[in-house]
Amino acid sequence: MAELAKSIDIPRARSVKTDFRDHLATADDEGRRKWLYPKKPRGPYYRARSWVAWLLLAIMFGGPFVKIHGSPLLMINIVERKFSVLGVIFWPQDNMVFALGFLLFLMGIAVFTAAFGRLWCGWTCPQTVLMEMVFRKIEYAIEGESFAQKRLAAAPWTVAKIGKKLLKHTIFLALSFVIGNTLLAYIIGIDALQQIVTDDPRSHLSGLGFMALFTLVFYGIFAWFREQACTFICPYGRLQSTLIDENTIVVAYDNKRGEGRGRLRRAELLEARRQRKLGDCIDCFNCVTVCPTGIDIRDGTQMECVNCTACMDACDEVMDKIARPRGLIRYASPNGIEKGERLRVTPRLIGYCVILCLLGLGLTALLVTRKYIDTSLLRAPGALFQATTDGKISNLYLLKLTNKTRNQIPVELKLQELEGSLTVLGGQLNLPAEKQTQASVLVELAPDKLQSGKTPLKVGVFSGGKQIDTIKTVFIGPRR
Ligand code: SF4
Ligand code: SF4
Repeated sequence: MAELAKSIDIPRARSVKTDFRDHLATADDEGRRKWLYPKKPRGPYYRARSWVAWLLLAIMFGGPFVKIHGSPLLMINIVERKFSVLGVIFWPQDNMVFALGFLLFLMGIAVFTAAFGRLWCGWTCPQTVLMEMVFRKIEYAIEGESFAQKRLAAAPWTVAKIGKKLLKHTIFLALSFVIGNTLLAYIIGIDALQQIVTDDPRSHLSGLGFMALFTLVFYGIFAWFREQACTFICPYGRLQSTLIDENTIVVAYDNKRGEGRGRLRRAELLEARRQRKLGDCIDCFNCVTVCPTGIDIRDGTQMECVNCTACMDACDEVMDKIARPRGLIRYASPNGIEKGERLRVTPRLIGYCVILCLLGLGLTALLVTRKYIDTSLLRAPGALFQATTDGKISNLYLLKLTNKTRNQIPVELKLQELEGSLTVLGGQLNLPAEKQTQASVLVELAPDKLQSGKTPLKVGVFSGGKQIDTIKTVFIGPRR
């Protein structure tokens, strides 16, 4: 074994809290918030995360401008109860799709988290991506590395300090405005947002109010609240302890290889270190100083850990310098660490992936077979049956049709299985695109076709000569 390297950035030794599970890393003994100044991460994981982040940011900010056949890529218009996913418009009538989609989403989260831990949080969560890849980078660019930031925070208010803080917070506010508007565009659509921006402000007071509210919320989160959002607010983070187990892959410290931890002496050989009963961890705290949530991963998996991989990069860099293998902190399951195994694809992982694929297929099948016209035919409220002058019995119905497509659709109704007449009051039904239409429908049947009281009624819905739906209802007649 070669002589261990001599030039390692070793911060001052710190006391290790043995009761870390009872304490927040971001609160002091009096419960006051400890502001974190994480060191800028560097290394292959950080580079890979940066590339993923740029891609996600492009999708996030470009998404509202993308339309598929004239419909937004993603729009969750809660106000008008209109939703668009991948250009397909969904209505509240699609409750089965929503219910199943939501169920699959929850199950997907549970299965994914049980297998891969907080991979989502570290790589793709908008909070992490925006905080670590946008706001933090701006902070490093303006205020410098973590030690410079600390020094600046402690320094008196000089012109230079005011200038730096003003510049940083102006950029933060401007970015928060962009993020707030992007969120608004995903809710009401980019066209409605453009109208708010270009129209007379007095006509869009609520829209402008939401714009200001979202801007302030995002500014508050990224300039001040930061990691506290993951620790205290995010329900996904809070659920971790119930979802992960000893086979879940998390960012983990290999305590078997690393302990006992101990400082590295200059020019110390590995054999000498082993004689001192020391492992590979040289207690340099580099993994702690880069952590954006302020924890020490060597204490084990913790609720605050968002699996951002910064500590993996930091420790790998140290391992390179002391000529020890990388991966003292790595993606691994607690069982994998216990047995000293590197990450491997287990049958359990394969099983989870198969379940996720099946869930995805189920949802796809539901979407493919989804009706593009939604129909309901209900008896007009308060209306009883009536006897007509030619001796027939009539019932009045309220017809509701929702056209979920982007085209106008002519629709025709025909009675099925029973002879009689069906009249749509108001004439031919032409369903406008993406709209709900209502019409009154009068059905007349001869008394000899009726059962006593209620008679089941089937109505076929036709468009372009093709039957597209069948509505079942009841016809009320006299009791015999
Ligand atoms: S785990 Fe790695 S980075 Fe952390 S203190 Fe030990 S050697 Fe340093
Ligand atoms: S412990 Fe490591 S992976 Fe977890 S949040 Fe801190 S730096 Fe990121």
